[in-house]
Amino acid sequence: MDIRSGNGFDVHRFAPDRELWLCGVKIPYELGLLGHSDADVAIHALCDALLGALALRDIGYHFPDTAEEYRGVDSRVLLRKVVSMIEERGYSISNVDVTIIAQAPKLLPHIPQMIATLADDMKIAPDRVSVKATTTERLGFTGRKEGIATQATALLIKAL
Ligand code: MG
Repeated sequence: MDIRSGNGFDVHRFAPDRELWLCGVKIPYELGLLGHSDADVAIHALCDALLGALALRDIGYHFPDTAEEYRGVDSRVLLRKVVSMIEERGYSISNVDVTIIAQAPKLLPHIPQMIATLADDMKIAPDRVSVKATTTERLGFTGRKEGIATQATALLIKAL
C-alpha cells in the first residue's frame, strides 16, 4: 500500500459586500471573504492538502486567479476537479482534517453541514472528514477579525 500525506494552508481577508462561504456552506455574517473565486478559504486549503499529497503543485497552479473562467467560481467545483485528479492516479482519500482559524463568526453550528458537504464532494464517509474551528485568542490578523486562515491535512492511499 502506498500512503501519501499532504498539508495545505490558505488565508483570505474579510471585505464588505461579499458572501461568506466556508467548506461549501454559506455562513450568515456581515462580511465575506475577498477573492477571485468565492474565496472559500477552507476548501482552498483542503485542495492544497490533497494536491500536496500527490506532489501535484497547488490550487493556484491548476486554477489561476487570472483565468476568467474561475471568476466567482464555486470552490466545490475546484474540489471535485482535484478529487478527479486523485482518482485518475488510482488513489483514494483515507481522511482529511481541516482547521478553520477565525475569531468571528461562530462556526460551531455549521460544522455538521460543512462535514456533510465536503464528504459528498470527496465521495467518502463523513466519519473520514474532520472540520474544526478555533480562534487565535484575539491575537494576530485572525484575532483582529481581518480575515480567516485555514490549515488542512489529507491522507491518500493506493492499493498496490
Ligand atoms: Mg485561496
